[in-house]
Amino acid sequence: MYKQFGISKEILDIADKAEQEVQEEFKKIDSLCEYNSLKVLNAFQKYCVSDIHFNSTTGYGYSDVGRDTIEKIFAEVLQAEDSLVRSQFISGTHALTVALFAFLRPDDIFLSISGKPYDTLDEVIGIVENPSSLIAHHVKYEQIDMINNDFDYDKIQKRASKKDIKLIEIQRSRGYSMRDSITLDKIEKVIKIIREVNENVIIMVDNCYGEMVEKIEPTNIGADVIVGSLIKNLGGGIAPNGAYIAGKKELVELAAERLTAPGLGKEVGPTLGINKQILQGLFFAPQVVASSLKTAIFASKLLENLGYDPNPKYNQKRSDIVQTITFHDKEKLIKFCQGIQMGSPIDSNSVPEPWDMPGYTDKVIMAAGAFTQGSSIELSCDAPIREPYMAFLQGGLTYQYGKLGVLKAVQMMQN
Ligand SMILES: *Cc1c(COP(=O)(O)O)cnc(C)c1O
Repeated sequence: MYKQFGISKEILDIADKAEQEVQEEFKKIDSLCEYNSLKVLNAFQKYCVSDIHFNSTTGYGYSDVGRDTIEKIFAEVLQAEDSLVRSQFISGTHALTVALFAFLRPDDIFLSISGKPYDTLDEVIGIVENPSSLIAHHVKYEQIDMINNDFDYDKIQKRASKKDIKLIEIQRSRGYSMRDSITLDKIEKVIKIIREVNENVIIMVDNCYGEMVEKIEPTNIGADVIVGSLIKNLGGGIAPNGAYIAGKKELVELAAERLTAPGLGKEVGPTLGINKQILQGLFFAPQVVASSLKTAIFASKLLENLGYDPNPKYNQKRSDIVQTITFHDKEKLIKFCQGIQMGSPIDSNSVPEPWDMPGYTDKVIMAAGAFTQGSSIELSCDAPIREPYMAFLQGGLTYQYGKLGVLKAVQMMQN
């Protein structure tokens, strides 16, 4: 069977060895999964989820009890006062955009303390000129870069003490940058340092790829608001689209009034039949995130054993589901991504090529043989075509499918 799938005995043997070596890490993931499952089950029971919550509304979407219950459950799981969980959010970028435009007004200062935010926010902020950007709306943008994979605590505290900043953004995952993802103990430390000198600044965390990777979320440690996508972790591979914003009640309300309209806020938004999928996705999310983490850990060890440079290392503390592998070689990078595509259940016969994608500056290659378009909680791999030729691997609905995809990619690259 493996031979038919195109995996050689040699690769299988190396994979077996790597799998043995990561068993201790897998045990930790199992316990994380159980803890997060308990959180989800508790929330479902607290809000008495029942058949009626799988209802559907159309048109304005008034009185959608399923939608309202979903938002209470997300708030409970994320330890937030309230949440906005909507399929009217097109993507994580859209939810981040809605949040930023909801909280920031002309002349407000927006400070990013984890370096330049995710590539798709360049035009949202106006780092790349756009007539609809925050900067075009007279919001001022400032940035403090990270040093040695940590916050520049002194500079951040000094800047925050001036009290003229409206919003501080922290991006937990690394995006397409070279830095590590930021662990929650560092986020907790920086929030404490900010709060020592500034009680009012809104602290927002881009939580994309981070949900359920640790036992707590940024909202447990002082973040005012967090944002993420439902075609990543919390959608569990089942939510067909959407995103969430969760945090302080008044901030969620502002975001709702920006997503719909002032005066309408959370009261409208038809669910068009997806409530059951959102609930089921959240129900599966702890297990799917665990599978993604195991796939990442396995890939990290396997590629390390083969002499490549993975980050994080297999036994390093993680804060998101992203695994990078540096190839220092354009051809190997492309082959690896193409192998991930070949190991996918959908479109396995397509061959991805580097392409100009909207929202990204360099050419990007994207391998995603996913049930849901663009879903990166499903095994996927993407890479900007630039030095040092680093692949960003993430997802895996089950560990077994994740592992098979990685084997196929390694085989392609070694051929
Ligand atoms: C995925 C992601 C986003 C949003 O991307 P979408 O593709 O628009 O959902 C934003 N920030 C980070 C760190 C991400 O990983």
